[in-house]
Amino acid sequence: TFDYIIVGAGTAGNVVANRLSEKEGVSVLVLEAGVSNEGVDAAAIPLLGPSLVPNTLYDWNYTTVEQKGYDNRVLPYSRGRMLGGSSSVNYLVYTRGSSDDFERIAKETGDSGWGWDNIKKYIPRHEKFVAPADGHDTKGEFTATAHGTDGILQISLPNFPNTLDERVMATTKELSKDFPFLEDHNGGDVLGIAWSQASIGGGARSSSATAYLSADFLKRPNLHVLINAQVTKLVQTGTQDGVAVFHGVEFATKAGEEVTTVTSTKETILSAGTIGTPTILQLSGIGDNDELTKVGIKTVFNNPSVGKNLTDHPLLANVYSVKGTESFDGLFRSTDTLHSNIERWVSNKTGPLTSSVCNHIGFFRLPDDSDLLKKFGDPSSGPKGAHLEMIFSNLWVQPGIPAPKTGSFFTITTSVTSPTSRGYTKLSSSDPFAKPTIDPNFLGTEFDRLALRQSVKLAQRFITASVWKDYITAPFGDYSRATTDDSLDAYARANAATFFHPVGTALMSPKGAQYGVTDPDLKVKGVQGLRIIDGSVLPYLPSGHTQAPIYLVAERAADLVKADN
Ligand code: FAD
Repeated sequence: TFDYIIVGAGTAGNVVANRLSEKEGVSVLVLEAGVSNEGVDAAAIPLLGPSLVPNTLYDWNYTTVEQKGYDNRVLPYSRGRMLGGSSSVNYLVYTRGSSDDFERIAKETGDSGWGWDNIKKYIPRHEKFVAPADGHDTKGEFTATAHGTDGILQISLPNFPNTLDERVMATTKELSKDFPFLEDHNGGDVLGIAWSQASIGGGARSSSATAYLSADFLKRPNLHVLINAQVTKLVQTGTQDGVAVFHGVEFATKAGEEVTTVTSTKETILSAGTIGTPTILQLSGIGDNDELTKVGIKTVFNNPSVGKNLTDHPLLANVYSVKGTESFDGLFRSTDTLHSNIERWVSNKTGPLTSSVCNHIGFFRLPDDSDLLKKFGDPSSGPKGAHLEMIFSNLWVQPGIPAPKTGSFFTITTSVTSPTSRGYTKLSSSDPFAKPTIDPNFLGTEFDRLALRQSVKLAQRFITASVWKDYITAPFGDYSRATTDDSLDAYARANAATFFHPVGTALMSPKGAQYGVTDPDLKVKGVQGLRIIDGSVLPYLPSGHTQAPIYLVAERAADLVKADN
């Protein structure tokens, strides 16, 4: 028996484990299905990160159902399966989202504690903003007041320069009206193009495992972390006032192995992520009665919101062929070059491999008078929220699709930051080791289809700046044929993928609401003893990538747990 059991040593789970075990004598057990991050080079060397998924030991290796909006293609749907969870396998981009994103959550849940003014108090506790590995002068590349320097997770500006840097900056000057420069994406404003920040410190990945579960913290005698321990279901330990109490958890090393049961005296906290958390609830009889009955699971609490509202960012990698050999594509083509760069990284943590996938990112709004907003309303969180995104990468970046054997590339990845499509995840069987049925429903709405088209047009406008004339040769592959609205839509359907940002499958809602899975304090509705702390509780996607807001949610949530016990 432990005071707290945390299911999942991922991005959020490790924050909670760290904070709850701060108090001596409070015992915390963390159960993680995956392996350790220790000794996994690709999880430490930033630019090797994309090799960690899909179809590896470090990935849950989920796939989506056929995506209607994507010409019925099936996509790999990666989730990290190791200490650190998805923060150990992600692309390291670190953006907190806009202040309006948090204001909307506060307003819609009736809890002002989720508002930006309260959430930003957690930044200094969480963040340790550090100098980049190349030691370059970062003046003008960030706003000091937006950052914490004494926290736990290391964040840095680009660690290695690339040939796009000056060109992107020149474009923000030449086309400043459409593409203004923003000093810092992480101070509550996101609109504009800024130097990208990443979860990298001293040239290496900083994940929830390297930071919140570092050796110093693991020394705490009250903090216990068990790997290769997959939770198969929650165990009801009693009934109170007619409500099921869940203080027990069953786990096993793998299918067919004996299960072990552990219990918590205070709370069980689900931090298994946007797919893992609803899956465990459903396996335990908390979910949509009809869906559970179909797979032979007895319903304990009928809540149709479990697994619904899945929201993710579509991703479209718009690739250009470029002149010269300054793109990073060559790094991966010759074993000798790659090895010498790995040696350089190992000896002093410098060089191109300390790069994340980009040195600049931009977030944008559709024009206020755009037909799209007139027709569909504004799905963003407010005037500071974004509709569209662009990421500038000095190499071929098409998740899951290997780079061509020759050529140099510049990728402008675009996305719909405020998608209106919603999907689901549900059980495919009552077997806890079976993969769930996942439908993110990409481009499921007209708004998303038209907004993705606008994002590509934005990229096409971006490269009209004069600096690109002597660099870009031509759009590559299918992209070269995307010349009309129709051909552009066809290209998007055939090539778009995912940012791997699912949220919302256990969304929080006001106390007493007829929808939603948790209350604003993240306690699970309709049962006792259970809380959810991970990306699944976010009712909307942020105007940015998901790891940073999830870290901040977890920091506040740990305080909520402490306040109740
Ligand atoms: P996770 O970090 O996924 O943690 C869940 C943990 O629970 C995992 O360790 C998992 O193994 C464990 N678990 C699940 N089920 C069980 C079970 N039954 N029993 C025991 N343990 C279980 N975000 C960004 O901000 N920037 C990026 O550049 C970026 N790139 C990404 C690239 C990829 C390939 C992926 C996969 C994600 C990316 N993301 C990025 C998204 C971001 O990493 C996630 O949104 C975030 O890390 C999720 O945090 P979480 O705590 O909700 O879940």
